[in-house]
Amino acid sequence: MHDIIIIGGGVVGTAIARELSKYRLKIAILEKEVEIAFGVSKSNSGIIHPGTQNKSNSLKGKLCVEGNKLVRKLAKKLGIDFKEVGQLIVAFNQEEIERLKEIKKEGELLGIKKMKIVFRPWLAVNEPNLNPEIIAALLVPSAGIISPYRMAYDLSENAAKNGVEIYTDCEVTNIKKDKYFEIESKLGVFSSRYIINAAGLFADDIARMAGIKDIKIKPRKGQEFLLDKKKENITNHLIFPLPSQTSKGTLVIKTSDGNPMIGPTAEEVEDKYDLSTDESGLAQVISSVKRLVPSINPKDIIAYFAGLRPVSGEDFIIREEKSVKRFINVAGIQSPGLTAAPAIALYVSKLLKTSGLKFKRKLNFKPFRRKTIHLFQSDKKLMKKIISKNKAFGDIVCRCELVSRAEIEAAIERGAKTMDGIKFRTRAQSGRCHGGFCTTRIMRILSEKLNIPLNEISKRGGKSGIVVKERG
Ligand SMILES: Cc1cc2nc3c(=O)[nH]c(=O)nc-3n(C[C@H](O)[C@H](O)[C@H](O)COP(=O)(O)OP(=O)(O)OC[C@H]3O[C@@H](n4cnc5c(N)ncnc54)[C@H](O)[C@@H]3O)c2cc1C
Repeated sequence: MHDIIIIGGGVVGTAIARELSKYRLKIAILEKEVEIAFGVSKSNSGIIHPGTQNKSNSLKGKLCVEGNKLVRKLAKKLGIDFKEVGQLIVAFNQEEIERLKEIKKEGELLGIKKMKIVFRPWLAVNEPNLNPEIIAALLVPSAGIISPYRMAYDLSENAAKNGVEIYTDCEVTNIKKDKYFEIESKLGVFSSRYIINAAGLFADDIARMAGIKDIKIKPRKGQEFLLDKKKENITNHLIFPLPSQTSKGTLVIKTSDGNPMIGPTAEEVEDKYDLSTDESGLAQVISSVKRLVPSINPKDIIAYFAGLRPVSGEDFIIREEKSVKRFINVAGIQSPGLTAAPAIALYVSKLLKTSGLKFKRKLNFKPFRRKTIHLFQSDKKLMKKIISKNKAFGDIVCRCELVSRAEIEAAIERGAKTMDGIKFRTRAQSGRCHGGFCTTRIMRILSEKLNIPLNEISKRGGKSGIVVKERG
């Protein structure tokens, strides 16, 4: 019997698990994919939003501002790369400057600090590639960037170290409630006193299993396009246009791995599995970002992907259900869900307390995690030191992104089972050659370390196998 079962191992589920792992509770995460963070949390812009562009009375606005503060503390404790790069929301005319003033005012109500409107002379010095027709911008220094999947992995590792059980390839198929919840899954039946539904795009399906019918998740697709690392410094800040009703607009994004990104689109779609990208998405993104930074060239695009925002109305839905006591929905976690995740976790912890769950702090809670070594983030001197201690760091497997055998083996020891699991943890296969050089080597390392034949290695589990048959 568990005290709490969290359904969904995205950044929200893992943040909740890590927060609750501070207490003497028996907790498990049930995740349907073969690895953590294979849902919405793997395909987003990686921005730690400051909270602007949210209504001051919205839950998501409040949790975003709080999350922005909490992420920094978590990043330090768990060794997650976080950079405060700042954001510029730009204006082309006086009317748009008036909009910036409104956004600033709304942001101040939410408690966002140090915002100021900067004008052309400042922009010319600090953001020289910006369209010279941009006359002013709202500078919001507290905006930052993070690796979204590494954030989820590092949260889950620390949660596991503090006793949280993590079950992957464990789709929840039905929920029954008597005195306790009985949760039917691919790995059998789990019993629990509480359920936290953090199932992202599928939170409505999980809610329905418990008899809650008023949540409907509507996916909103965002197509994103990654540029070559050589364009890393095309901008110094995150560049935003003025927001629309449904989105923060199409952005020029700095990423924690160096490749700038352009996007996302905002398209209402019906299919929760529609992760397609297309020519019209690309054309729309290119024309929008060229208005911000005219030198952006489609020839520099090296990869693209789409993610689906789990939208259910305008705001996040985080509540204990009156009709199903001890069932907590964490649904409609669209953007800025990555930013808000640690604040959502605290909010859920408070909900559990008010619902009557009694929990005491663990005396042996381990708040820290050793930072993962990434050669691509190290300067030459540090690299030399790392390699002199462990020669496997000198055995380079992915040349584009400078990833060594030691990093790949460490990723497997930390839970990677698939090619994507390796990619998200280490960046191997993310460069210009898209794994043309390193795929077979990584497969061999996976095969050796996991002691499975090559034909059981997949891109991301399920039917995504890579080789049909291994020759004897
Ligand atoms: C294009 C795009 C850009 C974005 N940019 C940003 C940004 O820059 N900053 C920001 O703050 N936010 C951003 N977001 C929002 C952010 O990505 C999400 O809010 C966040 O990732 C949601 O996390 P989650 O854990 O709720 O969902 P998920 O990561 O989807 O996790 C839910 C998990 O539940 C699992 N699951 C589903 N059904 C079941 C079942 N039956 N049984 C077991 N498990 C199940 C899924 O497999 C999944 O892993 C963006 C989103 C998109 C799409």
